[in-house]
Amino acid sequence: MMTNNEALDPLEHLQRLVAIPSVNPMGRDLTGPEYFEGRMTDHLVAYFRGLGVPHERIEVAPGRANVLARFESPGARRTVLLDAHQDTVPIDGMTIEPFVPLVRDGRLYGRGSCDVKGGMASMLAAFTRLVRERPVAASNVVLSCTCDEESTSLGVNDLTRLWTDPSRAGTLLTQRPDVAIVAEPTQLDIVVAHRGATRWKIKTAGRACHSSAPENGINAIYRMARVVAALEEYAARLPTIVPAHPLCGPATLSVGRIEGGISVNTVPDWCAVEIDRRVVPGEDGWRVMDDVMAWLRGKLDFPVEFLPPWIVGMSLPDHDNGPLADELLERITELAGPRRKVGVPEGTHASRIAASGVPSVVFGPGDIAQAHTVDEWIEIEQLRLATEVYYRFCAV
Ligand SMILES: [Zn+2]
Repeated sequence: MMTNNEALDPLEHLQRLVAIPSVNPMGRDLTGPEYFEGRMTDHLVAYFRGLGVPHERIEVAPGRANVLARFESPGARRTVLLDAHQDTVPIDGMTIEPFVPLVRDGRLYGRGSCDVKGGMASMLAAFTRLVRERPVAASNVVLSCTCDEESTSLGVNDLTRLWTDPSRAGTLLTQRPDVAIVAEPTQLDIVVAHRGATRWKIKTAGRACHSSAPENGINAIYRMARVVAALEEYAARLPTIVPAHPLCGPATLSVGRIEGGISVNTVPDWCAVEIDRRVVPGEDGWRVMDDVMAWLRGKLDFPVEFLPPWIVGMSLPDHDNGPLADELLERITELAGPRRKVGVPEGTHASRIAASGVPSVVFGPGDIAQAHTVDEWIEIEQLRLATEVYYRFCAV
């Protein structure tokens, strides 16, 4: 249990959150107590129960859940959604103890400290203060702690269904929130636009035979080599096909993995690559696959197979979050000095929340340069400033 004072301190929250592993295996076959969000989810439910606020655990996949908590203000003119994800990336190669929070030189070190347990800690502390102080004219606030941000977006996809799918009535959040702030490390700037990513596999097929007589087979790896060369050419042409976004930069394509074949003495009958296609605001995350297919058809004399994408790129456009960003920028500037509205290359939950009709921005403590790193850390001063900004934004 946290004391009253500890519960208002984002650093106290962050130390507890970092000590609870919630690693997303990200599609790898990894098992063990540090994987998935279950223990983090339990911690959050227990915290909100102790705080005495309406809260809800919503299972979105076996053992994986979003946790929602609600602060209700009698005179509220709007409902603010604050979102932070529970999962972290894996810990491979880390040079610090990932789950033993270490405070040194004004920083807190540990996996997730920056992405995004720091942001969640600031939101928890601000939410707690709202519940305790109940400022007049505060907004209603729903704090959503979502699962599976780092891999396939199960959590946020389920979250937005709460207000887009009428059959989901009866939860804490059946009405569409008026605005949303998503916690990710932005160094206290406001991200108003970002890219998204569509990721899928391309497969080539061949005909296997003994490698001592390769002329009797069809080599799927040779075919894939031609696919990869065509993709490289396409990626180089992409800036002339899709104009760069003024805030987010260019559309890109990258081949990130390759696998194939059976053994060295067999002509391979299959090969597969994984594609990462970053989409800019204005692009359709499904259409980009059709464009790649059309390009390959013009270059190749054999068929290729596209597997269904495991994630479809959704970007955050800046056309309807202007008033929200301006209001938030005022709160930030009062507390932390001049900050900017920016665009970034990496994706966040804000794109999917915005696509469900809620003006959304990304704002949080920490620098994306320290996210996912081998010695991940966050500046404690930013934690405190972000807490104050979240509080003031919701308190008026
Ligand atoms: Zn994150």
